Parts: sequence; structure tokens; C-alpha cells
Amino acid sequence: MTATGGAHATGEAHAPGARGPEGTIPLAVPNIGELERRYVLEAVESGFVSSVGPFVSEFERRFAERVGSKHAIACATGTAAIHIGLILLGVERDDDVVCSDFTFVGSVNPIAYCGARPVLVDAETTTWNIDPALLVGELDRRAAAGEAQPKVVEIVHVLGQPADMGPLMDACDRHGIPVLEDAAESLGATWTAGPYAGRHTGTVGRIGCFSFNGNKIATTGGGGMIVTDDDDLAARARHLTTQAKVPDVGYLHDEVGYNYRLTNIAAGLGLAQLERLDEFVAAKHRIASRYDAAFADLPLVLPPRVDGLDATYWLYSVLVPESDGRGRDEFLAHLNGLGVGARALWRPLHDQPPFLSAPLVGGAVGDGLFARGLSLPCATELTDADQDRVIAAVRSFFV
Ligand SMILES: *Cc1c(COP(=O)(O)O)cnc(C)c1O
Repeated sequence: MTATGGAHATGEAHAPGARGPEGTIPLAVPNIGELERRYVLEAVESGFVSSVGPFVSEFERRFAERVGSKHAIACATGTAAIHIGLILLGVERDDDVVCSDFTFVGSVNPIAYCGARPVLVDAETTTWNIDPALLVGELDRRAAAGEAQPKVVEIVHVLGQPADMGPLMDACDRHGIPVLEDAAESLGATWTAGPYAGRHTGTVGRIGCFSFNGNKIATTGGGGMIVTDDDDLAARARHLTTQAKVPDVGYLHDEVGYNYRLTNIAAGLGLAQLERLDEFVAAKHRIASRYDAAFADLPLVLPPRVDGLDATYWLYSVLVPESDGRGRDEFLAHLNGLGVGARALWRPLHDQPPFLSAPLVGGAVGDGLFARGLSLPCATELTDADQDRVIAAVRSFFV
């Protein structure tokens, strides 16, 4: 069994960041070095261990600078960041919120926390993200039928791959719907052409949310971030994540708040990871290029490479051929049997018990990604020798 770090772990449990059994090449494990040790120790020794402290403010300041947003508010988890983001955009009980159907469940659970109803829209084959044509169709259909529009459209950039943001933003702007970006998996990914050229994922919608769970490209153990350019939303995000406590007045809380802030110890870890982010992104690119070259002659569908979208390949994922007679499960068993910590892609949300009754637009593409897709080891510290072992294991399935 592989160590996968926290919320995505399946089967036999390992602590986030733990290595798999001897000889197994892990799917994704954190890259923790001297800098991380130094900052965490500094946080511990300073006495600022909780959610007030210099590392929290410094991590927020540097994060905002790195992704190019005006404000950044550190949260306890990525899921908490999305929850607060939805509240900031006015989501209430019985509202509709559009969400990508093909994503990790952490994208959609916060919609349920608000008592709102997810409307699931299928992925497209080009980026594996929400299909712009289906979204446009759904919003235009509602407008023509005089139905209420969703309160928010949540766009997820899955597996480190930016969504095709131009047409998505056009449609949402045309119908006056605010966009929340779930950039939990896409820290470091950017658009390089089109209307958002030079922008970082998470900074195009009114609110962007990131995760620093154990298996994400940068980790704080557990943590998340809200980014926005809006001063009022940022102030309200700080307020809601700190129990809605009114400053400078004795224990006055003016609404129901949340205990959702990041701790100073975790922020120390995060700041060190942020300083090394370029190194991590470069490693992900190098690993993806080596896999691409090694698999070019195999009947596998390789991860999307789209002009104008600079992905990070957070989890390098491939699709097995449709016609082979053998499927994803045989491929996965073959790889796991050879000590390769591969893992299936997500079961789409429309197939998850809590969301079976959610309205669904399309669905076949997400079904296909789940039926045929798996991720290969791509920890930033993966050695060429270990990657060659993975490559040999993959190739041996096709001889
Ligand atoms: C990891 C993840 C989340 C949730 O983040 P946590 O920090 O684990 O709460 C949300 N959405 C996506 C797409 C994720 O991958």
C-alpha cells in the first residue's frame, strides 16, 4: 500500500507523509528539509504555537505576493477555505452551487455544509476540468426558462491543470454569477495565453482557495488559503475564520463564526515550502516530461498538454486504452504488484452516496476518467532510478 498523505489515502492507513512498505515507490509524499525544520523549531521556541504569530502573517503576505492576489487568509484546511469562500459569496440554504463533477470530494462537501444544493457539471476531455460548453448550456437554459441561476460557480483545476477559463468566466459574467476557484491542486499553475495570460490559478475568480494537505505540492501538514483582491471579502474572511470575534471589545462575537485559522507552527512549515515552491514545480515538470517521453509509443492517454495552460502535473495521471480487453483494475494490480504506488482517479461526485440526487449535467466523461484513469508516483523527490522502475513496470503491462 502506498503512503498518499491524508485525505486521499485509500485502503491500509499510513500517516500523512509516511513511506510505504519497504521497496514500494510512493505516489506522493511531502518534501521536508532543513528549512522546514528550522522554521517549525523557531515557531515552537517562540511560544507562538497557535493561530496568532509572525509566521502566519508572513506566510499570508508571501503567498499573496507569489500568486499575485491582494489578500491571502490562512485557514485550517482547504475544505475550510472553500466553506468560508462560499459563505463570503452569499451561499445560503437551498441555493444552487455549480461544481465540477470530476473532482475530490473536498470540493463539494462545503456546498453541503451551507445547506446548498450542488449542481454537478461534467468534465471535458481536453483538460479534464469542467466543460465550458456544458456550463454555458446550463446557464443559458436556466435564463431562457426563467429559472434561478446558481449562487456561485465553483471551478476546480484538477491534478494541477488550469481550466479553460476564458469561456467559463464569460458565461458567469454574462449571467452575473461569482466564481470561486478551487485551486487546491494547482498551486504553481498559470495561464500563458488568452485573457488570463500570466495569471495564477485561483486569482481570476472573486475568490480562490488552496490546500496544504500532506500530499499537495506544498504542505503545512494540514492547511488552506483563501485569496481575493476584494478588501471587504478579505476582512470578512478573517472575521469568520476567527469565531467572528469583534476586536478590542471583550468577548463580543457578532455572528456565528468558525475556528478555521492556521496555526503558527503550521505556517512556519508553509513558509519554508513556499520558499521552495519553484523547486517543487520544476521537479513535477521534469517528472512529467520523462514519463511523457517514455510512454509516447504506448496506447495510453497521457495527461493533457494544452497550449496556453501551464500545468504543474500535481499527480501525473494516465488513462488505459478502451479497447484492450483489460482495464484500469488489471493495470493497477499489475503496478501495485511490482511495488509501484499507483492509485485510481476519483469516482465522480454523481456516484458518491451523499450526492446521488444532485442534478447532473452530462457525466459520461467523468465516468470514463474514473473507469480508465490512474495516477503514477510523482513525489518531488522521486529519483530517476525509481522513476525508471515505474516506467519499466508500466511498459511490462503492454508486452
Ligand atoms: C485536497 C483538496 C481539497 C481539500 O483540501 P483539504 O486541505 O484536504 O481540506 C479540496 N479540493 C480539492 C480539489 C482537493 O484536491
